[in-house]
Amino acid sequence: LPELTGDLDTILEWADEFRTLGVRANADNPEDAQLSRDFGAQGIGLCRTEHMFLGDRKQIIQTFILNEDEDIRQKAVDQLFEAQTGDFYGMFKAMDGLPVIVRLLDPPLHEFLESPRALDVEIARLEATGGDKGVIAEKRALMEQIDAMAEANPMLGLRGCRLGIVYPILPVMQVRAIATAAAKLKKEGLDPKPEIMIPLVSVVPELAKLREVAEQTIAEVAAEQGVELNIEIGTMIELPRAAVTADEIATKADFFSFGTNDLTQTTFGFSRDDVEAEFIPQYLKERLLPYNPFATVDPGVAKLVKMGVELGHQGNPNLTCGVCGEHGGDPDSIHTFHNIGLDYVSCSPYRVPLARLAAGQAAIEAKQAE
Ligand code: PEP
Ligand code: MG
Repeated sequence: LPELTGDLDTILEWADEFRTLGVRANADNPEDAQLSRDFGAQGIGLCRTEHMFLGDRKQIIQTFILNEDEDIRQKAVDQLFEAQTGDFYGMFKAMDGLPVIVRLLDPPLHEFLESPRALDVEIARLEATGGDKGVIAEKRALMEQIDAMAEANPMLGLRGCRLGIVYPILPVMQVRAIATAAAKLKKEGLDPKPEIMIPLVSVVPELAKLREVAEQTIAEVAAEQGVELNIEIGTMIELPRAAVTADEIATKADFFSFGTNDLTQTTFGFSRDDVEAEFIPQYLKERLLPYNPFATVDPGVAKLVKMGVELGHQGNPNLTCGVCGEHGGDPDSIHTFHNIGLDYVSCSPYRVPLARLAAGQAAIEAKQAE
């Protein structure tokens, strides 16, 4: 090996010569997209659109969910469409010529709604300070409405593609925004390459239904704008049921992206939001687990990924397969993904150089072992 001169770019170029795994980034704003590109990312493997719904937009979603009045709902959707079209325009422009996988809204419903506990505290404060009775009554009604929608296990509830099935107007709005932004850039002479990803799929009809909605919406926008739009549609594989029935699911997918965060959570039945919970450190201390499975991909989860890739190719021989969970930026996991035969890993922008290096090392080690 040549001496380390500190010239990271040269070392990364060598890694690029050997690696067969592509490296993309997880980004959801144009600044991070540009940063990923500067670090050598070959596209965006995951744009988490829920990150575009913070601040005021959260309020718009709450208005949409809590009102049955068609006009109020439509107005909320129109506002979201305007905002999202701008978001995607910026993302596709920053990644001109490279793929950008946009994932439709994924998080549990409660993340868009005000917290009933916070409302309760607010009501108590208003009552104690002699607040307006009308305002108090309004807040109480809101609290009761949100309380009635509470789920015992939100991460296993109304999230991912289930949101799009229950509220089809949301995926239509998002796909319309993606297609409109792409059409606009095409007319400006750029080369946007959006792809649409459906999250948390477990059965084929979920994907089939949302795929149909997306295809129809893309065709409408293409006709309206007078441009040709070829937008691939794929799915996350992040539930064990999806991995073991990947041959069926692949018949409706152009690509798979393994969401190893949720796949680890649902395979072990460990909550990904409570990794510091007492028992996991205890398991590590007593060596019941060799390492934290949320940081480095666990062999059992890797087996599901391998099964998903193999079955997926039976269902669709042209299927592209990547991974976009946190493990996509972990060197040990990257070795595993290389050996499984994934097409790419996708990780946070700052991990892109490390991922390029790890992918190069994995390729060299695999050759040496031949
Ligand atoms: C995953 O589950 O691995 C994933 C990438 O999706 P998210 O982390 O947004 O749930
Ligand atoms: Mg997930």
